[in-house]
Amino acid sequence: MDLLIKETAEIIKESKFTLAFTGAGISVESGIPPFRGEDGLWNKYNPEVLDLGYYMNNPEECWVYIREIFYDFFADAKPNKAHQVLARMEHEGLLHSLVTQNIDNLHQEAGSRIVHEFHGNSKRLVCRKCGEVYDANKMDLKKIPPRCVADQEILKPDFIFFGEGISPSAFENSFADAEKCQVCIIVGSTGEVTPASHVPRAAKQNGATIIEINPRESLFTDSVTDIHLQGTASKVLAQLEQYLFSQKESV
Ligand code: NAD
Repeated sequence: MDLLIKETAEIIKESKFTLAFTGAGISVESGIPPFRGEDGLWNKYNPEVLDLGYYMNNPEECWVYIREIFYDFFADAKPNKAHQVLARMEHEGLLHSLVTQNIDNLHQEAGSRIVHEFHGNSKRLVCRKCGEVYDANKMDLKKIPPRCVADQEILKPDFIFFGEGISPSAFENSFADAEKCQVCIIVGSTGEVTPASHVPRAAKQNGATIIEINPRESLFTDSVTDIHLQGTASKVLAQLEQYLFSQKESV
């Protein structure tokens, strides 16, 4: 594994444009469970509360669960080593774009600047009537549902619900970067969610080398992955960091 990590670091160093594509798995070590799998959120909650049609008809009921999942439970989550290494790679010119399916804002909190939020961001609440955007951290969510100051409309978290379209700018920027990248690093994604999972597939079609970091196999592993670094995101990215920045640290 050590040799494979070292070789992978060399491939990343040689790449002129590297894209990271992250899923729920990168935030597991920050204490945020994924949706799917044994400890997944869908074993505890009904995904219906995030269905746009159901939400529009039952916002008060949905907000009880939305608050519990996204604003009580996840509120104290902090970026972990994996988020930090990706941010450092960007700062040092080794990562040029990041597409995340996550809505937890942890990449931004770790210092990543070029983040395409494919599924939006839970830290923003939006008024669907007038478009006003609110910072969720500054809202008093003891009283739900939260409402727009201007028109009293119920605010919706600014992430994509089931049945809702992807923001055109996030979609276009993600695929534009996928098409020009030479290396794509997939971290912690099952590859089951479309159209997000088409991003690394577009990279592969355009000749990129696909590196996957995941303790388990995913739908990507046997279809597009060139190098599978089998392990948790923080452990593998910490190992990669050592080789990526080894010269700098020994000076
Ligand atoms: P997923 O929930 O379908 O799968 C998680 C993947 O992470 C699995 O392949 C699993 O093997 C892997 N994994 C688990 N622990 C890991 C670790 N420590 N390090 C690396 N990988 C690990 O995730 P998904 O494919 O990203 O799709 C779910 C959708 O749900 C996403 O689109 C996302 O919007 C949303 N979601 C987001 C969050 C978040 O913002 N943190 C949390 C749950 C779900």
